[in-house]
Amino acid sequence: MAGSQRNNELARWVADQWKQQGLEDVTIHEYDVLHSKPREISLEMVAPVEYHATLREAPYAVDPDTKNPAASGAFLGYSASGEVTAPVIYAHSGNPEDYDYLRTQGISVRGKIVLVRYSNPYSYRGFKALTAEREGAAAILIYSDPQEDGYGQGKVFPEGPWGPETHIQRGAITYDFIQPGDPLTPGWASVPGAKRIPIANAVSLPKIMGVPLSWHDAQPLLKNMDGPQAPQSWQGGLPFQYHLGGDRVRAHLKVDMDTSTQPYYVTEARIRGAELPDEWIVLGNHRDAWVYGGVDPSSGTATMLEMTRDLGEMLKKGVRPRRTLVICSWDGEEYALTGSTEWGEEFADELKKKAIAYLNVDSSASGPNFHGTPVASLATVLVDVTRTLPAPSGKTLYQEWRDTRQQQLHETRPAQDSELADTRIGSGSDHTVFLNFLGIPTVGLEFDGPYGVYHSLYDDFYWMNHFGDPGYKYHALMTQLWGVLALRLANANVLPYDFETYAKNIRSFVDELDVKSRVHEHLDLQPLYAQVDQFETAGRDLNAAVVATLSASTNAPAGGENAATNRVNAELMQIERNWCNPDGIPGRPWFKHTLYAARFTYAHLELPGLTEAAEAGDWKLAASQEKILEAELAKNIAALQQASRELQNSSERGAH
Ligand SMILES: [Zn+2]
Repeated sequence: MAGSQRNNELARWVADQWKQQGLEDVTIHEYDVLHSKPREISLEMVAPVEYHATLREAPYAVDPDTKNPAASGAFLGYSASGEVTAPVIYAHSGNPEDYDYLRTQGISVRGKIVLVRYSNPYSYRGFKALTAEREGAAAILIYSDPQEDGYGQGKVFPEGPWGPETHIQRGAITYDFIQPGDPLTPGWASVPGAKRIPIANAVSLPKIMGVPLSWHDAQPLLKNMDGPQAPQSWQGGLPFQYHLGGDRVRAHLKVDMDTSTQPYYVTEARIRGAELPDEWIVLGNHRDAWVYGGVDPSSGTATMLEMTRDLGEMLKKGVRPRRTLVICSWDGEEYALTGSTEWGEEFADELKKKAIAYLNVDSSASGPNFHGTPVASLATVLVDVTRTLPAPSGKTLYQEWRDTRQQQLHETRPAQDSELADTRIGSGSDHTVFLNFLGIPTVGLEFDGPYGVYHSLYDDFYWMNHFGDPGYKYHALMTQLWGVLALRLANANVLPYDFETYAKNIRSFVDELDVKSRVHEHLDLQPLYAQVDQFETAGRDLNAAVVATLSASTNAPAGGENAATNRVNAELMQIERNWCNPDGIPGRPWFKHTLYAARFTYAHLELPGLTEAAEAGDWKLAASQEKILEAELAKNIAALQQASRELQNSSERGAH
């Protein structure tokens, strides 16, 4: 876990590995962060019968790692501390509409303990905590119902990949959808000695107590509840009728959290670029886990260390990329995306000048299904790279990806190239500071599968060896994918951003918003659509100019085109930055990007300022947000046209 002695040792171990592999500029950055870990947590049902929750996960003989007494019990990062004895109410998934339903049944949760399940439908646990806090509940218990991540899905651990009776999904309940990173240094780095705000002013810290439960511990509470029967859609996988609860079930909860400041460590290494050392491709993976973190994040860390070993071998053979690779092992991702956020805030000015892309791998493999989440301008290069890589099935990764997407889209026809990448990017991992705060294009890479042991003790070697990636074939493939994508970007003559594709995506964002919120009945969307059309044309012209330049340069002596392409690249790097509004999106000033953000549930949210204003029916605010988008588009259209002109001029010179 972040803040633990072992995790801090691993920061140094990663640094040592990178030095041995031949990487350069190996550095460990320290950030002093408001941390959160349990001193004492207990839960007892006091009526109608007594039950002491175990708050622990059961060991299994076949997997000795499950017997480790050092494994943590049940807790949620950044839970408030306190003690309460109160009735327990079942509030389904803990989303706002669930409390609305309880109100129709005459049930208030004020001062009570709410029991909610994790994913039906899924929402980030921090959103459940904030919602319960706003409803005036005294505490929230979040449990894993077997219908969603247990026996309702298939065989459970250790016979299968799904969560067993006692598995506990730990996690943080930070409100990092408002403000990620150290809660006491919003917008600046928590380097030792940094200015800190008072805890009472920290918008990302919950004021409610929260504890996660296995269904083993939730069952006695649910089974004894009185009150109205839960509606059919609220019924879970346990073999009895669920009730909403009344006064019958009462519980005593005590949560005592240690919130002392602790050092977090980000380990960084570089491979300095041979020709353009001040242009960076940034790669990162987080190191902190909840227990072992077999999938999350250690599969990603193993992939990263294998990739850096390969890059080190290439360096030893004299193969150095044109641009610099900056590689980071983040800390505290699980708490508030903390290490990456603090590092991004510390080096913001330099990153805005130098960063071409950020490539994130959190978990690399929990199964065989590829999920690529690039900003739309990088979708084309990602698809291209997958064509070159052999997958374990003998097909290319591209073909496997098409098969996976076809199934996901429930289509009988093969998926189109334009449907492969998922360009709807929410939060929930270390790409957030790069995309949303700095305006750097990001790509997320992951192979996933039935991963029912997420954030539990059972996410370990046994699970990975038997269910996640037996033979580690997808780990190896991720090493190739991540490395080849990084080198494509690092060695490109003209940076492979595809703004024509970006424009098509932006148009579909506007279309979807208009269908959902009937924006055109309140605002004139034509100027916005006209700008998107022009941006698409400018992107298509640039793509054509790039092709012409690259084919001319293969026929012409090298040299002349370099100055022009370098200048053009510097301009193209700024396109993503231009989607950022220094004021941020309304109500969340840290989130600067106006095309991409996350909802409070972590779900993706496109055109956040315009969308949230439209959904709130605030058409005055929506109109001003539309104007911001139009101005950004105008700026980027001019930048693309300028880049095309420069490339055309240079290839004409080359032709003479
Ligand atoms: Zn993770």
